[in-house]
Amino acid sequence: MGENKKMRRPPIPNPVQRELWIKSGGRCEFRGCNKYLYKDGVTQQPRNLAHIAHIVSWTPAGPRGNENSEKLATDISNLMLTCSEHNNLIDDANYVDKYPIELLQRFKREHEERIFRVTGMGQDYGVRIVKMWSKIQDQVPQISDQGIYDAIQPYYPLEDTLNIDLSQVEYISSAMETIRKIVDLHLLSNQKQEKYCLFLMSKIPYSCY
Ligand SMILES: [Zn+2]
Repeated sequence: MGENKKMRRPPIPNPVQRELWIKSGGRCEFRGCNKYLYKDGVTQQPRNLAHIAHIVSWTPAGPRGNENSEKLATDISNLMLTCSEHNNLIDDANYVDKYPIELLQRFKREHEERIFRVTGMGQDYGVRIVKMWSKIQDQVPQISDQGIYDAIQPYYPLEDTLNIDLSQVEYISSAMETIRKIVDLHLLSNQKQEKYCLFLMSKIPYSCY
């Protein structure tokens, strides 16, 4: 001590930051988190929420710091894109024993391999979502888009969902008519073969149709 000069964390060069954003898919790399880091949770507007955490601290005195600290300070293999919560956890001296170098390296490797595999999925994985709903005991059932995305993984939804709204329909015959019209129209305008994924929240006879 005695010197006023405070050590500064070396800036991470832009190409290294860019590579880290791409490899992490813009999501927190801490195992089990996966938080998306480019959207404000409240306003839903684009916003950079990411931190860059060092597995081996950039200074030998820091968490997991060692004789390689200086060399690894801006090395992509030593950096993790994280949310603020996990950035704090990784930098918390009380948790260094719980999260040693090898474990954090494994988190990073697992995350980046998964992002690479998932974003490499071709168009074969697109499915057409068909949502059909009717009143069931005077209630109109709901299913969230997120629930559907979770259910169809590892497939992804094609852009236009086929919605069949039977909530105003009273009789089976008119329900059948509505279903046929919507399906025929879709098939007519869409000559390609597609995979379909059906989410039927309607009275049983409609679903059988
Ligand atoms: Zn996180």
